[in-house]
Amino acid sequence: MGEKIMQTAIKEAEVRKDFRAEEISKNFLEATVGNTPLIRLRSVTSDLHANVEIYAKAEFMNPGGSVKDRAALAMILAGESAGELTKEKTILDATSGNTGIAYAMLGAARGYRVTLALPKNASAARKKILKLYGAEIIETDPLNGTDGAQLVAKELARKHPEKYFYPDQYNNEANWKAHFATTAPEIWWQTHGQITHFVAGLGTTGTFVGTTRRLKEFNPDLQAISVQPSLPLHGLEGLKHLETAIVPGIYDANLADRNLEVETEDAQVMTRRLAREEGLFVGVSAGANVFAALRIAEELKEDAVIVTVLCDGGAKYLHEDFWNEA
Ligand code: PMP
Repeated sequence: MGEKIMQTAIKEAEVRKDFRAEEISKNFLEATVGNTPLIRLRSVTSDLHANVEIYAKAEFMNPGGSVKDRAALAMILAGESAGELTKEKTILDATSGNTGIAYAMLGAARGYRVTLALPKNASAARKKILKLYGAEIIETDPLNGTDGAQLVAKELARKHPEKYFYPDQYNNEANWKAHFATTAPEIWWQTHGQITHFVAGLGTTGTFVGTTRRLKEFNPDLQAISVQPSLPLHGLEGLKHLETAIVPGIYDANLADRNLEVETEDAQVMTRRLAREEGLFVGVSAGANVFAALRIAEELKEDAVIVTVLCDGGAKYLHEDFWNEA
């Protein structure tokens, strides 16, 4: 891979750093989105061939606690630039939680009202976090999942276009572009251009699509592996079983070199191991990503640098029983 491309990525990261220094004094919240650490997993990887390394992007360190801060910030800024998001408008979207938390946090900081449609069975902790930022919640039929919440938000936005700014994260280009502009260059820079495999779960697909698109520009030989739940009904909050779900408009089926299906229980076991063996208290989709990254790693003997994503922290999943198992 070209030295020139590498230099460009490093320069880009430096420019961003300068920009951040200036922005921090203006707006603390926005300036702390992104630039997350890349952590080498050393314990759950102990059976691997010595030259196969796995790293995980610590997205739980974003100010709202998840990878979705990047996308929400990008969609809000894009709405403001296009003149579609003005102070009179309420930000409205469908979200299983993390994008909602990011909208609610950024909305509070920037002076926007926020209304969110989410399935009634979303965890109490998530709803509480949304409400403490002042967001209004519309509870939708749990049997219809996040797809049902999407339809409710869409209908409301259609009926009251003068009242709502509807980012529609599943179809908003700024969602994947956030990762194209930030997540991917950060990974490239943090691995010194050595990344060989990128592994990420599919929700709105913004993380996978944006990061993969840019990383493949840096290195066309990069292997991109998408991760999905093995069944339509699953416990991998934040991820979608695309075969049976509404496929997000931003999804690009040509990007993944492979797709891995993960069982909820395997992801939960890995989530527990990450806490106990790596000191990483993260959510279940992070467990699914690391489980999938290990599956890829186990097949490899040659040098490999595999990067995956720790999408959010574990606190929102405290009520789940799998933590209690031995
Ligand atoms: N994990 C969690 C916990 C999430 O909230 C999300 C967002 N739905 C994802 C993974 C997937 O990210 P993306 O929407 O970028 O595909």
